[in-house]
Amino acid sequence: MGLASLPFAGSAAQAQDLSLNANRKIFLDPGHGGHDPGAVGNGLREKDLTLDIAKRTRAILDDHGYQTRMSRTSDVHVDLPDRAAAANAWGAHVFLSIHINAGGGTGFESHREVNATDHTRRFNSTVHRRTIAWMRQTASITDRGTKETNYVVLTHANMSAVLTENLFIDNEANANLLRSPNFRQDIAIGHFYGVDTFFN
Ligand SMILES: [Zn+2]
Repeated sequence: MGLASLPFAGSAAQAQDLSLNANRKIFLDPGHGGHDPGAVGNGLREKDLTLDIAKRTRAILDDHGYQTRMSRTSDVHVDLPDRAAAANAWGAHVFLSIHINAGGGTGFESHREVNATDHTRRFNSTVHRRTIAWMRQTASITDRGTKETNYVVLTHANMSAVLTENLFIDNEANANLLRSPNFRQDIAIGHFYGVDTFFN
């Protein structure tokens, strides 16, 4: 699915939305990197997939006027607390960490910290709902739900923070989806709509 299929500026109302987005800071955190490949399976490495999906997500957010930063834009290692610290120092409004799951399951899940604020719970549910909806345009995807987990990046971030686990790299059917650039674009569009729906 290409950008051309996304609703875009053209009406006055949408132009107004875009100007509002210019004040919204979205921090994207592609999981792992450098000497840490993350999960590996079926010829894929988590660190490559997360960077690709985050870059695709960033491109769509940029096209819609959001301010964006990433914890890494290449194959380098960044310590977990430093990822959250970068978002805190920038004054990000939301933090979105992108991962791929492993361990014998199938499907999509997302996480927020334990005892998260209502604001964060709403961000989590919006990102979750939108992302799985876009994945399901291509394939039947198991919904593993939203979970509360005190991952370092979630607890260290000062703003609403969500971590997505986008299918299982060690599941052959899941991996075949993740191998497809079109499917990774759908994941990115889902993450974009999660952010955009949350703010607008
Ligand atoms: Zn991971």
